[in-house]
Amino acid sequence: MEKIRTRYAPSPTGRMHVGNLRSALYEFLVAKHDNGTFMLRIEDTDQERYVEGAVDIIYRTMEATGLIHDEGPDKDGGFGPYVQSERMKTGIYMDYAKKLIDKGEAYYCFCDKERLASLKTEVDDEGKSITIYDKHCLSLSKEEIEANLAAGNPFVIRQNIPNEGTTTFHDELYGDITVENAELDDMILIKSDGYPTYNFANVVDDHTMNITHVVRGNEYLSSSPKYVRLYDAFGWKVPVYIHLPLITDENHKKLSKRSGHASFEDLIEQGFLTEAVINYVALLGWSPEDNQEIFTLDELIKNFDYHRISKSPAVFDIVKLRWMNGEYFKAMDDEKFYELAKPYLEKALPGNFDLKKIAKMVKTRIEVFPDIDGQVDFFRELPEYDIEMYTHKKMKTNAESSLQVLNDVLPILEAQEDYTNDALYQTLLKYVEEKGYKNGYVMWPIRTAVSGKQMTPAGATEILEILGKEESLKRIRKGIELLSLA
Ligand code: GLU
Repeated sequence: MEKIRTRYAPSPTGRMHVGNLRSALYEFLVAKHDNGTFMLRIEDTDQERYVEGAVDIIYRTMEATGLIHDEGPDKDGGFGPYVQSERMKTGIYMDYAKKLIDKGEAYYCFCDKERLASLKTEVDDEGKSITIYDKHCLSLSKEEIEANLAAGNPFVIRQNIPNEGTTTFHDELYGDITVENAELDDMILIKSDGYPTYNFANVVDDHTMNITHVVRGNEYLSSSPKYVRLYDAFGWKVPVYIHLPLITDENHKKLSKRSGHASFEDLIEQGFLTEAVINYVALLGWSPEDNQEIFTLDELIKNFDYHRISKSPAVFDIVKLRWMNGEYFKAMDDEKFYELAKPYLEKALPGNFDLKKIAKMVKTRIEVFPDIDGQVDFFRELPEYDIEMYTHKKMKTNAESSLQVLNDVLPILEAQEDYTNDALYQTLLKYVEEKGYKNGYVMWPIRTAVSGKQMTPAGATEILEILGKEESLKRIRKGIELLSLA
């Protein structure tokens, strides 16, 4: 069997969209699953869409996500250059375009803007209007073409697609797709600035770089029959094409910048973990044989089988991703979590707090880092709360019982010297036992008084320890005051 070679071929146009990340991941997995080679190729022939700095984003994202390429602009594997603008300088695209002209599969076109503007237009799959070229220049004589070229008249080179017959393209997921040739436009292969179009460069490069499997979004599906015609014209083997289902947002609309979480960087800025994002993105269209949902990259490599990719649109469900991210926190060791959570903790709790302890408290209770603030804000400042909160059915507490308990424990805590969780717990336990109460009957009012919250990431004595004696007693006195007024 030939060795699998895949490529991720991004156009440097900005942040790495979730769809692009999925293509990169699947290309990586298809290759790595079979010990193949994963290559990075930069497709920068569209100068208008080029965004400064976008190539760096691509490198950074691939590095961060662990999608490490075996070959690429920075790792020569003998198939370079790996950047299309550099490949262009070698003349490769023009040479192949001329070969097609010799075979009658392409032709020079000298039509000017005015003439093109007068031609029929159609709306393509993406809603853009495109001009259907009328093959005017196909009938130019050899002499006319040479005269034009000699005069330095601007030209493009177009693919010559017959008006009759059909072309069949095979996709691994979508099967055979047959289109009427008359519906295919004589697409431009070489633009007037000498650059190849994306579609042409893509075919020439995939072939000359020995690519065996192409994985990409299904927005390219409609151009693919034209690719087959190019492969056939050159007598080249068509790679295996795998077009991936659309990714939609929760409203079943195409995931776009407006959704606010469309790119890898957006998600990281929103406090998601790289591993969780990769894990989640892997499941956008692919599923394993069993119900496993949490995968490391190595497990994905082992389990990934592209035959199990689904054709139905994949919904990007931020709620699910949040859940998954939370699972990663739960499985993370405390030290690592603390390192990552530190900036968020420092922001939420300026001053003298034992952030390491607090990190441990919140680790299993948050889904994304920004959730930290809502978990720990009461340490910073006691929120205003309703004394209704002292009433708890199960604990059998109410305002009256709470006032009595707080009045009892205030002097006990004032006398307490060792203000650590364990010592505090023992002290309170003694009081509980002496009185013959249930734990909750005492702990609930204390916790309410020191946190002002229904839910806290820790129990009463842990909170007392974090707050320290002075602050916690202040809060208990405040509780007594509120309850006495009622
Ligand atoms: N340059 C294309 C993009 O960024 C890649 C399409 C393909 O993989 O063939 O979307």
